[in-house]
Amino acid sequence: MKAEIIAVGTELLLGQIVNTNAQYLAQECAGLGIDVYFQTVVGDNEARLKESLQIAKNRADIIICTGGLGPTQDDLTKDVLSAFTGLPLSIHQPSLDKIAALFQSRGVPMVESNARQALILEGSTPLANDTGLAVGVALTHGGTHYILLPGPPKEMKPMFDRYAKPWIRSLSAGEKPLYSKMLKFAGIGESNLEHRLLDLIQAQADPTIAPYAKEGEVMIRLTTRAESEEAGLGKLSQVENEIRSRVGEYLFAEEDVNLEHVVVRLLTEKGLTLSAAESCTGGLLSELVTMIPGSSQVFKGGVVCYTNEVKHGILNVPMTLLEGEGAPGAISAEAAVALADNVRALMKTDLAVAITGVAGPSSSEDKPVGLVYIGISAHNEPSFAEKLQLSGGREMIRLRAAKSALYHLWRKLKR
Ligand code: ATP
Repeated sequence: MKAEIIAVGTELLLGQIVNTNAQYLAQECAGLGIDVYFQTVVGDNEARLKESLQIAKNRADIIICTGGLGPTQDDLTKDVLSAFTGLPLSIHQPSLDKIAALFQSRGVPMVESNARQALILEGSTPLANDTGLAVGVALTHGGTHYILLPGPPKEMKPMFDRYAKPWIRSLSAGEKPLYSKMLKFAGIGESNLEHRLLDLIQAQADPTIAPYAKEGEVMIRLTTRAESEEAGLGKLSQVENEIRSRVGEYLFAEEDVNLEHVVVRLLTEKGLTLSAAESCTGGLLSELVTMIPGSSQVFKGGVVCYTNEVKHGILNVPMTLLEGEGAPGAISAEAAVALADNVRALMKTDLAVAITGVAGPSSSEDKPVGLVYIGISAHNEPSFAEKLQLSGGREMIRLRAAKSALYHLWRKLKR
C-alpha cells in the first residue's frame, strides 16, 4: 500500500511550526510496511485542500490528514472531505457527550462551534481522542482510505497509535503478516553504512532494507511479509547476517533504543560507575546519560570544563599541556586523556570519558572545525584517546561528539 500524508495548516506554510506530524507518521508507516511516496503541506483553504485530496487520491491508497479538526471556522478538514466524497457530516453522539461533560465540569457554557469537533462522515469509523476533544475519522470511500487526525501532536500521536494503526492493520487482514526488525548503529555515518551495504540495498526486494539517520545514530529497518513467524524471522535473519558480516562492529542494538540507554544498561550490568569531563559538548553527554531512568546508579557526575582555567583549576590539567609554545593544546589527545584521568580521580569512578574539540563555526588553536578528541580512562587499564573529524554545523558536531564518546564507551564496555 502507498500512503500520502497531508498536513493542513497555514502556520506550517508560514514556517511558524515544524511539520513534526509528518515525520512521526512517515516513520509509523514505514513500521507498518506502507510506502510513503509523497507528503503535502496545504494551508487552511478549502479549494487548495480539495485539490490536494484529488492529487493524493490519484497516487495513494491511504491519505492521512493532520490538522483542521478544531472548532473554529478555519478548521475545514472534515467539511472538505465531506464535500469531496459527497458523504454528509453528522454528530457522533459519544464525542458530543464527552465535549459537553467537559464544559459542564468547568462551569463554562458550550458554544455551538464546539459541537463541530464531534462531527464524523457518514459511514466512517470514529477515532477516539483520549487527550483532546476533536474526534478523528477513518473512512474507506471509492477505493481510497482516508484518516483524519487532529493537529496537536499530543492528540495526534495517541489517536494514531491506539486507533488508526489497528484500523490500518485491519485493511490488510487478508495479507500475510508483516515482520520487521530494527538494527541500530553508531560510530559510522549514514553514507558510509549505506556505501558498505549498497549492493544489498539496491538489490533489495524482500525483505526491504530501509536505512535512515536520526540524532547522531543510524538505523536500518528490515521488513518482510511471510505466512508464518518462523518463515518471516528466517528471511529477516538471512539479510541481517549478511549486514552483520559487513558492519557488525558498529551494531549496538537490535531494538529501538538509543546508545545512551545501551551504555547505561551495560554499566548497570557490570556494576561500573562513570564520570565525564566535557569541553565542546558543554554537558550534552551528561544530559543524554541522565535522561535514562536508572542512570543515577552508574553516573556520578560531570564537569563542564569549557575554559583552560577550569581544565587546569578544577581538573588539574597542567597549563604547560594546554597553552604555550610547543604545547599540544586543549584540543589534543594528551588533553583528552588528562581530562578523563583527572575527572575519574576527582569523582572516584571506574570509568571516565572526556570530550574536547572544535564545534565551530570558527576554528580554535588553529585547529579545524569538527576536530574532536575523546578520552577514555578506566581503572587499571591504559587510558587512550580517539581522534575524530566530524562534519556538520555547531549543533550537529556537538551531538556527534557526544554520541561518538558514548560509542567508544560502548565498545569498551562490551569487550
Ligand atoms: P485545534 O483543536 O487545537 O485547533 P486542529 O486539529 O484544528 O486542533 P490545527 O488547528 O491545525 O489542529 O493545529 C493546532 C496546533 O497543532 C498547531 O498550532 C500546532 O501547534 C500543532 N500542529 C498542527 N499541525 C502540526 C504538524 N503538522 N506538525 C506539528 N504540529 C502541528
